[in-house]
Amino acid sequence: MTLSGKTAIITGSNSGIGLGIARELARAGADVVLNSFTDSEADHALAAGIAEEFGVKARYIRADMSKGAECRALIEQAGGCQILVNNAGIQHVAPIDEFPQDKWDAIIAINMNSAFHTMAAALPHMRRAGWGRIVNVASAHGLTASPYKSAYIAAKHGVVGMSKTVALETAEEAITCNAICPGYVLTPLVEAQIPDTMKEYDMSRDEVVRNVMLARQPSKEFATVEQIGGTAVFLCSDAAAQITGTTISVDGGWTAL
Ligand code: NAD
Repeated sequence: MTLSGKTAIITGSNSGIGLGIARELARAGADVVLNSFTDSEADHALAAGIAEEFGVKARYIRADMSKGAECRALIEQAGGCQILVNNAGIQHVAPIDEFPQDKWDAIIAINMNSAFHTMAAALPHMRRAGWGRIVNVASAHGLTASPYKSAYIAAKHGVVGMSKTVALETAEEAITCNAICPGYVLTPLVEAQIPDTMKEYDMSRDEVVRNVMLARQPSKEFATVEQIGGTAVFLCSDAAAQITGTTISVDGGWTAL
């Protein structure tokens, strides 16, 4: 299946899942726009590397997803898109009565409000193109809860609800809007936490992975960024044209429990 001729904007894509999704969309032929809030040589080099590896157009545009105007400017600076992936996200863990207001505001802004702004800005371009795919990266925490993650869980549930609403608003057009709900995904950040956790609990790597990190993931295996990217590519395919307003869990059975 080819996405050639389609432009995809992936927010928060200079690392982890966003970069994995950008790479899989590029592998499927899409031109890609990478994004984060930094503007380093390494950011631009990532885009150049993708262009060379997959023979597509790729560029990097700096925009801070905590700011509504910058979210909208990202879409306009890219000249619009047919594929929009809202992936930028951060986390903070604290009981609700100790949750810092600035962390709450940042999580709601980056993990949820940014999707409102980018979707609002991208939809007119998709309508003009007569085709569009919106893929929002939510989480198993968009469907279930855990203690101490009130802002993250509120934001991710919000993203799931917003995805359903946009799907209904675009239902009679060739535009779909869905949310991917990953369980624990092995990203460089997650990998980097393993040695400290091994020390903290005096456990082997395997014990940390099985009993701490993947305690709630029945498969006892991390999902990979390639699998999340492949799911995004599927949602952009013709086979998924009637899949809209729903969630796809990539969580090793977490939400089946
Ligand atoms: P990550 O930290 O590697 O990636 C987050 C990305 O968002 C980075 O590219 C970062 O630069 C970007 N970002 C952060 N703040 C930003 C801002 N203000 N403006 C623009 N970009 C910003 O983490 P990840 O694990 O790849 O997470 C990506 C998404 O997947 C997040 O929405 C996260 O909630 C979700 N998710 C991750 C997991 C997991 O296990 N890793 C599980 C479920 C959902």
